[in-house]
Amino acid sequence: RAKKSGKNRYCLYNDALGLEEVRKMELEKDLQSALENNQFYIVYQPKWNVKTNRLYGFEALLRWEHPRLGVISPAEFIPITEETGLIVPITKWILEKVCHQCITWQTQGELQPVSVNLSNRLFQSGRLKDMVQNALEKANLKPHLLELEITESMVFYDVEDIILQLDSIRALGVRISMDDFGTGYSSIGLLDRMPIDTLKLDRLFTNDLDTPRKRAIMNAIIVMADDLQLDLIAEGVENEEHIESLTQLGCYLVQGYFYGKPMKVGEINKLFFNLNDKQLRTV
Ligand code: C2E
Ligand code: MG
Ligand code: MG
Ligand code: MG
Repeated sequence: RAKKSGKNRYCLYNDALGLEEVRKMELEKDLQSALENNQFYIVYQPKWNVKTNRLYGFEALLRWEHPRLGVISPAEFIPITEETGLIVPITKWILEKVCHQCITWQTQGELQPVSVNLSNRLFQSGRLKDMVQNALEKANLKPHLLELEITESMVFYDVEDIILQLDSIRALGVRISMDDFGTGYSSIGLLDRMPIDTLKLDRLFTNDLDTPRKRAIMNAIIVMADDLQLDLIAEGVENEEHIESLTQLGCYLVQGYFYGKPMKVGEINKLFFNLNDKQLRTV
């Protein structure tokens, strides 16, 4: 049986490399053909405005359906695609898919902005702005309906260059969001220099507002975001208590399992656009 021999193979390699390395090598090899073999798909997680009780938009998140190993987390495979450079063609594909999807939803009524996550590697390619522009033009999508999420960690490298590239992308009308804010080596000084429109508070932060000290920090971030005219959205909102404490402090934009897990397009259509598959095909 193939499975058995596969296991034996792991054991052989195991002495020299270790299971993790073997798995990584295998994923690295399989990722090479994943795009052309249609093994990637995009799930969308709703963002919610608690104040108006309305949908605020979506975040696009990548999924890889490995033919043998099943769905693999982006936390595991994205870093590999960053090392190999595959993240560049993959992100091009994501941007085109998302822009197209966005147009489809737009024709259903309300405008729903969608955000796409970026990797540091995209900035090194020097083609990011063209890539974004092409995707928008191909779908004929209004730029303000697309938001790009960057993280503070990627900004450690070539800050000046990243700012220039972000400026040129923002000049197209595309929005920029700072993801996972409040964790890692957040530098408040960076906020002054980065051309951004949105702050996304990390889940670890929003899940942990149970002491007066933490609420004081959160309050300061909310005031600051307001003064800087940045949208502030809290990630990882999982229950009523999270919503309670966030709204009490004045943070009304949220994203998390409480309002919806990342879902396939079909599910989003049913839940948010009242569409079934048949109707969608006629769009
Ligand atoms: P992220 O951009 O910070 O995305 C948020 C992650 O938190 C997602 O995990 C989402 O499923 C998860 N999440 C959302 N709500 C909740 C909640 O209420 N509770 C908990 N515990 N988790 C929640 P996911 O989809 O596994 O993605 C992990 C990370 O992988 C993302 O973090 C992002 O950094 C990266 N990633 C995902 N898709 C892409 C992509 O298309 N391109 C790039 N460059 N990175 C991606
Ligand atoms: Mg994100
Ligand atoms: Mg995040
Ligand atoms: Mg994250």
